[in-house]
Amino acid sequence: MEKQQNYQVLLYYKYVQIDDPEQVASEHLEFCKELGLKGRILIAGEGINGTVSGTIEQTEKYMENMKNHPLFEGTTFKVDAAEGHAFKKMHCRARPELVTLRLEDDINPHDLTGEYLEPKEFYKRMQEENTIVIDARNDYEYDLGHFRGAVRPDIETFRELPDWVRENKEMLEGKQILTYCTGGIRCEKFSGWLKREGFDNVGQLHGGIATYGKDPEVQGQLWDGQMYVFDERISVPINQVEHNIVGKDYFDGEPCERYVNCANPECNKQIITSEENEHKYVRGCSPECRSHYRNRYVVEHGLTEEQWNERLLALGEEKAQEQTN
Ligand SMILES: [Zn+2]
Repeated sequence: MEKQQNYQVLLYYKYVQIDDPEQVASEHLEFCKELGLKGRILIAGEGINGTVSGTIEQTEKYMENMKNHPLFEGTTFKVDAAEGHAFKKMHCRARPELVTLRLEDDINPHDLTGEYLEPKEFYKRMQEENTIVIDARNDYEYDLGHFRGAVRPDIETFRELPDWVRENKEMLEGKQILTYCTGGIRCEKFSGWLKREGFDNVGQLHGGIATYGKDPEVQGQLWDGQMYVFDERISVPINQVEHNIVGKDYFDGEPCERYVNCANPECNKQIITSEENEHKYVRGCSPECRSHYRNRYVVEHGLTEEQWNERLLALGEEKAQEQTN
């Protein structure tokens, strides 16, 4: 049977001054709920950033309304067809900022940002000499997929990027620097910050990877793996021409693109692993997480104490006594 794609997922942002984020957020939440959308939206003094899902009719209505909204008109939407909702609930919250770079002096992309490059231009420039491509996302996003040859900054989260750049200045100096992220919002600030740091030749992928994957000419080429997304889909394909798996199983290093969260609720770390290894390791990223008394895998699968112990023993691990109390 063919899959029914009667839903859509919208990914969007707009940098725009919002004087009362709290008020706007609560009104916007009401509006989204009335439409029947689900998703996550952040509203800050510097703008809006959201991912929502709904039926085609609901999402079209939302985009139409945004077009006529005094603050949000001109927002560009990246639209993905889907088989159902990509979220369980509808959240819309006010936040101090949309993107956290831990800057002593924040960047307003309307004042300073890198050159906007459309997919075709980005594709061309990536292959030029003396060019360095920086992935401006978190490490676990990079690990599932990235542009071929892109630098993975040795950081855990996006907000550590400025320090990483300062520590690696020699590597970047005199180069054409290209940055990219999921939808483009992080690069607007990051590329602006690079320019303020004194790098002249800075380009950013306009509309992010999401737009790049849909470009009819480029068709996602030079992208390896999948793109990590912050909703229930977890990953989406980008390269329409070829598919190279770059993700590696956390436990055995085999090619893998399946993300799960560590079953220890106090850890919750994202790990790439096969279904087989998930069972073998009771979805725990470490001996501590595997024997943790609140291990969610054990609960979900209704393992008895004995069955649980058997799995751990097979790994040469024993369940710590105090954790069962
Ligand atoms: Zn863990």
